[in-house]
Amino acid sequence: MVRRRFTFRGTVQGVGFRPAVYRLAVSAGLAGWVQNRRSVVIAEVQGDEARVDGFRAALRSGLPAACRLESVSESGAAVVPGERDFQIAESSADAYSFPPIPPDLPTCPECAQELLDPANRRHLYPFITCTQCGPRYSIVERTPFDRQNTSMQAFPQCPACLAEYRDPGDRRFHSQTNACPACGPRLRAYGSDGQEAAGDPLRAAIRALAAGRVVAVQGIGGFHLAADPRAPAAVQRLRRDKERERKPFALMVRDLAGARLLCDLSPAEEQLLRSPPAPIVIAPRRADAPAWTLRVSDTDTLGVMLPYTPLHLLLFVHPGAEIDWQALIMTSGNLAGEPIITDPAEARERLADVADLFICHDRRIVFRTDDSIVRVGAAGPPFLLRRSRGHVPRLLHLQSEVRGVVLALGGDLKNAPALARGRDLHLAAYNGDLESAETLWQFDGQVRRLLELYGVAPDVVARDLHPGYHSGRWESPAGARSVDVQHHHAHALSVMAEHGLEEALALSFDGTGYGTDGVTWGGEFLHATRRDFTRLGSFAEFPLPGGDAAVLHPPRIALAALGEEAPGSIPGLDEQQERFLRAMIRARTNCPLTTSLGRVFDAAAAILGLVDRTTYEGEGPIRLEGRGLRARALGRSEDQASGHRLQDLLPFRDGPGDSRVFVVNPRPLLGALRGRGGEEVDSLALLFHQAVAHASWEGARRMRAHTGVRKIALSGGVFQNLLLRDILIPLLVRDGFEVFLNEEIPAGDGGLAVGQAWFDPG
Ligand SMILES: [Zn+2]
Ligand SMILES: [Zn+2]
Repeated sequence: MVRRRFTFRGTVQGVGFRPAVYRLAVSAGLAGWVQNRRSVVIAEVQGDEARVDGFRAALRSGLPAACRLESVSESGAAVVPGERDFQIAESSADAYSFPPIPPDLPTCPECAQELLDPANRRHLYPFITCTQCGPRYSIVERTPFDRQNTSMQAFPQCPACLAEYRDPGDRRFHSQTNACPACGPRLRAYGSDGQEAAGDPLRAAIRALAAGRVVAVQGIGGFHLAADPRAPAAVQRLRRDKERERKPFALMVRDLAGARLLCDLSPAEEQLLRSPPAPIVIAPRRADAPAWTLRVSDTDTLGVMLPYTPLHLLLFVHPGAEIDWQALIMTSGNLAGEPIITDPAEARERLADVADLFICHDRRIVFRTDDSIVRVGAAGPPFLLRRSRGHVPRLLHLQSEVRGVVLALGGDLKNAPALARGRDLHLAAYNGDLESAETLWQFDGQVRRLLELYGVAPDVVARDLHPGYHSGRWESPAGARSVDVQHHHAHALSVMAEHGLEEALALSFDGTGYGTDGVTWGGEFLHATRRDFTRLGSFAEFPLPGGDAAVLHPPRIALAALGEEAPGSIPGLDEQQERFLRAMIRARTNCPLTTSLGRVFDAAAAILGLVDRTTYEGEGPIRLEGRGLRARALGRSEDQASGHRLQDLLPFRDGPGDSRVFVVNPRPLLGALRGRGGEEVDSLALLFHQAVAHASWEGARRMRAHTGVRKIALSGGVFQNLLLRDILIPLLVRDGFEVFLNEEIPAGDGGLAVGQAWFDPG
């Protein structure tokens, strides 16, 4: 007779882990118990050695698909005389680390099957779940993840559900979200007049969509606005009322086959579509994709996802009103610049002008999540453009401890705060840009609930160095230490945190961040440690007429970046505007300097006539990348055609006497794009990316020569550019660099807080 104690770490709560361990132990004939602790699951098993061995072996294959086991440790324990049964013990709280809470999980195949089975008591029930699927993080109020700690506590189980919950042989044994039409959440439909619509809400939704209307649908982490993309009026209306003039909309398709009709999907992209986060995958549009897809996205890519809740699934397969949508637009239910709405009453009020019908439910959303967005390049791992549903609140495990409890507030764009303690880091869901009062308020609430959820108060509050950032104004509790982290250092640190690096070179390339000299940085070559950094190089400063407002008018950036010695018209600027801007630049009126590489991308896009004004973040660079990818697909290279030497396009000069050893001048490259267009645009766009990649590589070599360091971190929003990654990463790898990238978090400002938390304030 032996007794062994197993400690399981990872995503082990809310995924049917304890019931699975229970079944394995019982079928092995063992006594003991399994219990949720705050941060781990512990099981003690007792029996003869052979049976324990059998249990250990069965663990390898018998655990639920949704669990992500990070480690299992095993130790001996004292035999408990007379113990006969195996039990799922009451959850207990301990306080040593962050308790892992599972992310929301997409509907599993078994539930999808039951949903459509007329004989099943949950036939067409839009809130069917089991231990393997359903809401988790979005409904949790406290830990551990038990029903009474979630918004499911409002729905006591009926006898039939309770019987399943208590039956070890049932697949809903101990399912915390268990519910049925008799006892669980309910769907309701409301018209834009606020009146509840009679009849089946799902049929009403399907009818409205078929009639070209816009329908607000309450999903797992917030509202979507749904529309049939084949209805031009619906798409126009969404664009007008959401103030979303050109930004592509995400599409939900019925299944993988539906996605294949729209996009050329690689195996990696198909795998991501079906992965537990069920993200939006940005994939190349098929050449023969239906014409309506152009209304949804005017780039060469489409963002597609699969239905991930029973409610979404029913919009596609409801037997009473089956319509073959080729796809449905599913865009975040919010107004321009505001966070996604989670409350039905608020949705009906704020979206009253946007949507004709509201499909709402009464399972309260505690934590808001948007759809996560991911993209796959040829080089490097898939990369996240937005980290939210399905990823949050999975903890990042750091390779060494942070000091005390660290709250990192992130930046003002794509804000996402983070909380770290010991080796655990929780990066919160994406909030959006902290420009509107609404987003700021949400940010404040999110930070507060995050601290409450884990029951901690921060010892250190890390913020961006920018004196004007709203996120930085968050008031630290008394006694907490406040530290400022430079923006591009934080980007570098975000990669270093993911890979446990104490020191690395870094290419920190993005649109904007406050530099230590008060200049807006964004094209930075850094040598970073957790404590400090040295700026060894940068792109050359140029003036930004009108400051950040210039971002909305890329032709202005182009004029300023080209400099005075290059007169002549730029697409999108008339002579008068040009004279005015030149006067502004000469007089240095409201012309802050920038070293931003993101702005150089904007300038290039404007010079090639790809963007006259920016209607969504990154619009110019996204178009530029798209045109470059077209040239690459045709195997074209401007480099060979025109005999440009890449090193001449972005020449290096010596640093100006500060820490910089070199400065990269973007003017010759931008000049080479001038006055050319038409058929050349694609290959010029490719040339631009090649030149930037080569200059990045050259800068990396110079930094390596200067420091002897060959580990290099690539981060910042510019590294969400697939073409640049695909060209640059192999160049660095072939030259002997160890290249590190963001993997679990976005390279843009959505991952900034991770770097801030990894900063060592000494
Ligand atoms: Zn299920
Ligand atoms: Zn029930």
